[in-house]
Amino acid sequence: MTYYRTINPATGEVVAEFPAATAEEISQALDSAQSAYLSWRQLDLAERSRLLRNVASLYRERAQELARIISVEMGKPVSQGAGEVGLVADIFDYYANEGPGFMEDQQLTVRGGGEAIVRSAPVGVLLGIMPWNYPYYQVARFAAPNLMLGNTIVLKHARNCPQSALAIRQIFDDAGLPAGAYVNVFATNEQVAEIIADPRVQGVSLTGSERAGSAVAEVAGRHLKKYVLELGGSDPFIVLDGEDLDATVKAAVGGRMSNAGQACTASKRFMVVEDIYDAFVEKFTDRMAAIKHGDPLDSATKFGPIASRQAASELIEQVQDAVQKGATLRTGGSLVEGAGSFMEPTVLTDVVPQMRAYHEELFGPVAVIYKVKDADEAIELANSSPYGLGGSVFSADIARAKSVADRLDTGMVFINSTADSQEDLPFGGVKRSGVGRELARSGMEEFVNKKLIRTP
Ligand code: NAP
Repeated sequence: MTYYRTINPATGEVVAEFPAATAEEISQALDSAQSAYLSWRQLDLAERSRLLRNVASLYRERAQELARIISVEMGKPVSQGAGEVGLVADIFDYYANEGPGFMEDQQLTVRGGGEAIVRSAPVGVLLGIMPWNYPYYQVARFAAPNLMLGNTIVLKHARNCPQSALAIRQIFDDAGLPAGAYVNVFATNEQVAEIIADPRVQGVSLTGSERAGSAVAEVAGRHLKKYVLELGGSDPFIVLDGEDLDATVKAAVGGRMSNAGQACTASKRFMVVEDIYDAFVEKFTDRMAAIKHGDPLDSATKFGPIASRQAASELIEQVQDAVQKGATLRTGGSLVEGAGSFMEPTVLTDVVPQMRAYHEELFGPVAVIYKVKDADEAIELANSSPYGLGGSVFSADIARAKSVADRLDTGMVFINSTADSQEDLPFGGVKRSGVGRELARSGMEEFVNKKLIRTP
């Protein structure tokens, strides 16, 4: 039965189809990851670093081809795809270079004398479950630190990304990693539950929706497996003053529209103090309305389709719910006619708690702008969300912006910029945005056995 399928979101055309794995294939994948673990964990750190550097080089060499694959699978413009691949290569290089330092033994001062060290040991085979929005980057955040640690990976990618999943696996094979260190499985969600339960698997990391996170955490909890969850967000973008308003609006539109709005840390709720609210709405709406969509395979395109027709329809329903209940539609609000899943850049104002758009994540090119009296009201509104991933604060007064940052219930805050990910900065959220952290040193501290070795 076909389960994994590439459907070009720019044309609606089915490009490739793959069946789900058989039970035997899943079991073989787990055997191979488990047997690779026994030798991979023993490999010299310098050798593991060398192999990760090979992975980084192959990503750089294949950047154009890799960017084309995701353009066709999930609609990312090729220019942005190449940027994603560059970041992935940086992540692998980062852990190859810094990983051994992060893993150094920690000497403890012990009451009663003798020696005690804490050693960073791997835990075993890990399952990764990844989404389609950054098909290479999401996998790298999980795979690079864990391979460096000595863990091995079984990866289940999103159903609409089978070709990127295979291209990733090919890179690990070509880089010279031993068979089984990184295995791809075209698993169904039912098979995922069986993999988590399997005694060969020690933990699971999922990046995706709250719904998937909660389903996976439930199974992991039942089987006492550690999990890391990187889930949705509804990041606030707080504007405290009108200093350089044009630059702020430009950043706001960029923060909302990057990756056609399909980013967990996209700026989704804009909170603007009342004296500049009208000017902000006007400038923001003008910029949004001027954005033109294009073929993601064209190197000039900056705004491509939504990843699937279904995702676009769900977004339209959220917008229509708000409009029916009294929100003001400033621009957009519809699908672009044609076979693809292009959606107009959309701006809503006058959104209130009775509307879905107030509480739910809007995973696409839809911005909601709120008028607030002052910083206190912005913070209250920002923290009223069930999510707590990232956020931005814009102000000429950095000390004031930092004091607002302190009071936001999120895992990350960016002052005078929108959320950006880089290999040496920790990434993750609180509340319904997830559990745990990725990247930087934190990325090596999730699936690690901090083993005490005590000598008298
Ligand atoms: P999704 O539907 O949750 O899918 C993500 C992954 O989870 C896919 O591989 C999917 O497999 C799998 N999955 C779904 N239900 C599952 C279940 N019951 N058991 C096991 N696996 C399951 O999410 P999406 O719509 O692709 O991605 C968008 C969401 O991801 C947004 O909420 C976004 O904010 C979030 N996200 C978060 C981060 C972060 O770092 N915090 C980064 C990117 C995206 P199938 O494709 O086979 O269903």
